[in-house]
Amino acid sequence: MEPYRIKVVEPIPVTTRQQREAALKRVNYNLFDLRAEEVTIDLLTDSGTGALSAAQLAAGMAGDESYSGSRSFYRFHETVTELTGYAHILPAHQGRAAERVLFTTLLERGNLVLSNTHFDTTRANVELNDAEARDLPCPEAKNLDSTDPFKGNIDLDALARTLSGPDGSRVAVVVMTITNNGGGGQPVSMENLKRTAALCRQHGVPLFLDAARFAENAWLVTRHEEGYRDRTPRQVAEEAFRLTDGCMMSAKKDGIVHIGGFIGTNDPELAQKCELLLIATEGFATYGGLAGRDLDMMAQGLTEVTEPSYLAERAEIASHLAHRVRAAGVDIVEPPGMHALYLNAGRLLPHIPPHHYPGHALACQLYLEGGIRSAELGSLYLGEEDEHGNPIKSAPYELVRLALPRRVYTRSHYDHVGETLAKIAKNTDQVYGFRITDQSPILRHFRATLEPVPVRG
Ligand SMILES: *Cc1c(COP(=O)(O)O)cnc(C)c1O
Repeated sequence: MEPYRIKVVEPIPVTTRQQREAALKRVNYNLFDLRAEEVTIDLLTDSGTGALSAAQLAAGMAGDESYSGSRSFYRFHETVTELTGYAHILPAHQGRAAERVLFTTLLERGNLVLSNTHFDTTRANVELNDAEARDLPCPEAKNLDSTDPFKGNIDLDALARTLSGPDGSRVAVVVMTITNNGGGGQPVSMENLKRTAALCRQHGVPLFLDAARFAENAWLVTRHEEGYRDRTPRQVAEEAFRLTDGCMMSAKKDGIVHIGGFIGTNDPELAQKCELLLIATEGFATYGGLAGRDLDMMAQGLTEVTEPSYLAERAEIASHLAHRVRAAGVDIVEPPGMHALYLNAGRLLPHIPPHHYPGHALACQLYLEGGIRSAELGSLYLGEEDEHGNPIKSAPYELVRLALPRRVYTRSHYDHVGETLAKIAKNTDQVYGFRITDQSPILRHFRATLEPVPVRG
């Protein structure tokens, strides 16, 4: 059961099918353009959407808004130092701000960054510095149905080969994303992290964590990795940070705050350079673009997030939803992670070809049938067509992500999601494909407009 009770509630909008149909037409079938008030269950993202605890709100009320050296900063600094062990900690307003400050300082033109999988803003911030972001996911990650518990791992052979090969001298940093968001939210084992750290040390390359979901990764390690079953998630997390040279963190995930992030590093020279850029572009080094109250709430959230009862319930609710989804006859990327479930829309809707976006079709149907908002991760996101709509490139898989906000929805909300999917799965021949009517040159899934096209079942 949930290890908390509800003290403050927010009504959620309940709409009619007719209203939802009209809303979809009005936004030209782009779910980002819906007003949140038109959405009943919002599973678009788990970022910044969690519920604050009473203790976090209380800490926020006690926040110190001094421009420099605030009490809030010192509380934040002490908490993060104890958790991570890094010698230098810099607050930033969110993950991508931390990425920009770190990579602008660390990278030079032509550098190479290696990762189990770069998150999309991480990749963008590498490329904005004229460097190359290369993903080296482990081979098991390619099989969506495999239930291997650590499909978030980096491919150690490919890493060793790259570090000692002709590109080795270009590698400026290795980034391990925990859990592996771009790779289906799958965790990284401590064994894989240790061997990565050893390879990096051997080649004199720093290893950084992209630590947005460090607590969820730690929980899955305590569940599935030999030698860690009697450790607490907090102990696993502390060990993971200490195997690396630094981190960047989006606290909008496992910080359970609406806004916040930080950079950690053991390198004094790097810390000093980052601090100067932070002051010029984010804010003074003791607030980094945040209010004092944000720093206090982040410190409290970072403490709560490794509580075993909280993590056990979060894993439980994800597997509850996974169970409902499978029972509805819809396949997911196995095993279910903790922050999201990824529906295999390509397999559910084989009559819709990739360039008519089966993932988007399922996302629109989830909204139409149940007022549920999700995110397409398929060929609308990753594909490409010529000016006549003929496919040039399609995504490797046609997926839909149901992200799970922290402490927000209960089992009955997720039962509604399961029931809606069951209804859709029974009548897949009624699900239409789509055609793009207008799109932007980059990140098209955010701004594209579409229209339905009938496809033969
Ligand atoms: C969300 C996320 C980021 C970016 O953080 P923001 O707070 O959204 O800027 C970076 N890496 C990973 C793995 C993330 O999930």
